[in-house]
Amino acid sequence: MKNMNNCDYLLSDLTKLNGVGKKTMEILKKKKVNNIFDLLWRLPKSYTDRSITSNICDLQINKVQTIKIIPKKYQFPRIRNLPNRVNCEDETGKIDCIFFNSYEGYVKKILPLNEQVSISGKISSYKGKYQITNPTYVSKDNSIIETVHNKYSLTEGITEKTYNKIINQILKNLPKLSEWHDQRILKKFDNESWNNSIVKLHDPKNINNYKSSFYKRLAYDEILASFIVNSEIRKKIKKIKKKSKIFDQKPHYEIINKLNFKLTNDQKASLIDINKDLVSKNKMFRLLQGDVGSGKTIVSLISALNVITSGFQVSLMAPTEILARQHYNLAKKLFAKNISIALLSSKNERIEIKKIINELKNNKIQMVFGTHAVFQKKIIFANLGYIIIDEQHKFGVRQRKLLSDKGGNNCDVLLMSATPIPRTLTMSVYGDMDVSIIKEKPSNRKEVKTFSKLENKMDDVLKFVKKEIIDGNQVFWVCPLIEESKKLDHQSSVNKYKFLNKLFPNKVALLHGKIENDEKELILNKFLNKEYSILVSTTIIEVGIDFPNANVIIIENANKFGLSQLHQLRGRVGRGTKQASCILMFKSNLTVNAKKRINILKNSNDGFEISEEDMKLRGFGDLLGFKQSGVKSFRLADPIQNEDLFLLAEKEIRIIEQQNTDINKYKSLLKLYDQADIINDIV
Ligand code: ADP
Ligand code: MG
Repeated sequence: MKNMNNCDYLLSDLTKLNGVGKKTMEILKKKKVNNIFDLLWRLPKSYTDRSITSNICDLQINKVQTIKIIPKKYQFPRIRNLPNRVNCEDETGKIDCIFFNSYEGYVKKILPLNEQVSISGKISSYKGKYQITNPTYVSKDNSIIETVHNKYSLTEGITEKTYNKIINQILKNLPKLSEWHDQRILKKFDNESWNNSIVKLHDPKNINNYKSSFYKRLAYDEILASFIVNSEIRKKIKKIKKKSKIFDQKPHYEIINKLNFKLTNDQKASLIDINKDLVSKNKMFRLLQGDVGSGKTIVSLISALNVITSGFQVSLMAPTEILARQHYNLAKKLFAKNISIALLSSKNERIEIKKIINELKNNKIQMVFGTHAVFQKKIIFANLGYIIIDEQHKFGVRQRKLLSDKGGNNCDVLLMSATPIPRTLTMSVYGDMDVSIIKEKPSNRKEVKTFSKLENKMDDVLKFVKKEIIDGNQVFWVCPLIEESKKLDHQSSVNKYKFLNKLFPNKVALLHGKIENDEKELILNKFLNKEYSILVSTTIIEVGIDFPNANVIIIENANKFGLSQLHQLRGRVGRGTKQASCILMFKSNLTVNAKKRINILKNSNDGFEISEEDMKLRGFGDLLGFKQSGVKSFRLADPIQNEDLFLLAEKEIRIIEQQNTDINKYKSLLKLYDQADIINDIV
């Protein structure tokens, strides 16, 4: 093992370590420790000093201490279950060593009479006499225990002693990896090498030393690794040659003439970006990012029509069937009659599905809409040229890459997302793509007015709702999210429905996760046709759906949501021309902190700004959608604390890209941190 002078040692499984058997390995595997490298990031929380500290007379009760003693007399009781006892002493006093569940022979062996030994353990006192029970260490050779021991948050089944042994073994055998950073970068971290940094990371003196150079170097390694992987994927995809898509802009203008609004400048600019990519001979892999309600759908449909005109097929994937149908209906309205489009839905009859599959194969259908069903194996396209993926924030880098591969080389890819990602994270989340951003909201939009209300002011809220309904407006009523139980979640929405239905008979509809898709669509369609005035719902309305006539949203127990999530929910209203309101309801008076949070929301309608603030308040782990985003969380790096390192890595990646640096020199870094050999197997 010692001779492995590269990262293979670190990527070996744990049984390669002395003293780790199958059992320990299984225990650690459950904690997502799969190899030696993973173990390095389980950091010590505190430490125990086991250097010889005291004479017996100076011992402190209840502390772990190490002393040199001379055993004087054995007391081995004849009664079972009573512990074996050894009376010991030094020049200053007496102490008893107590052993439960031990054999006499063993005790005699480790504590021979009249020979000095060192023992270490927690000191207690019994009937005025010091004692030490089942000492952790007993040794004639005190060099073994005169050390400082790290305390790790232990996993059941593994003792501190074993754990320290394992870690020390790894630290002793760390391979000397050749430095991947330039001198220029290394200087910023006081030239700390990777090896030294890891050793220092486990040095008890350095516990919680987040600001030190070695710590920052390791955090930076991690950030840069993720940036390089993304950048490489992006480069590789860009190199893929495809057939250029040739189209004129006539259909484009036909659509625009059908709209009762003008495209915003950002929508136009995004279309120019996309069209340029479609025409080019290189594959497109682009993200269209824009806040809720910024009008991404229309941009994607116009570009889809361009692709269809050029003779290729298009596939649009949405996260829910409701959303897929909404896009399909819009396309039906906007596209010329001679363009054949289809909706792939779980509602389809078998025969219907067969027909769609056949017609996609024969190039009779030019565009298909659906959920991930559009990527089933049995769906074969005659000539797929464009994949559009809506609200893709649940896909990570690798999933996106897979999708892109699936379409084949001629297939351009557009992803759309409203999830605002804080700036520091853009590169790790979207670094594999080109990005077009729609910042500007359609000009007819009025800012949603946001209010907070205590639950005991329900009567006021109901009065307000009544007035809105009389004016012909529609209301979303979002019930408390009860995380602990889907059942309760569902129940609370049912209760609210009953309550409101009494007040507004026949005007209230209910939507929750347990309702079948068919039924859901029916309800939503009726709501869209204004057959209902209030839609009571759990958070399933969050993603994408577009009801321009709804202009009030009431969110109960609003403190259960993150700011970004509240912003997404709020984005369901204010899509038409009428003034919209969002009422956040709370069970009890807000704390100072909660007030601060809500004020951010009241004062801003900008999703990016809100997500930055949300991240600062809650930490990035809790950000909306972040956990499901597929973005692996960092081990050391923290997007808030280490903003400077993220910016540094961003600068560096630009340099790497511009100078076309051979990333071979980062091979070990990428292999260790991304568990992937980008050079061989990702791309
Ligand atoms: P999102 O970006 O959240 O997906 P949508 O594409 O669903 O937003 O658009 C939201 C609403 O805004 C839709 O009703 C759409 O018709 C409308 N819309 C889109 N672009 C404009 C515009 N330039 N001016 C006015 N309304 C627009
Ligand atoms: Mg959308």
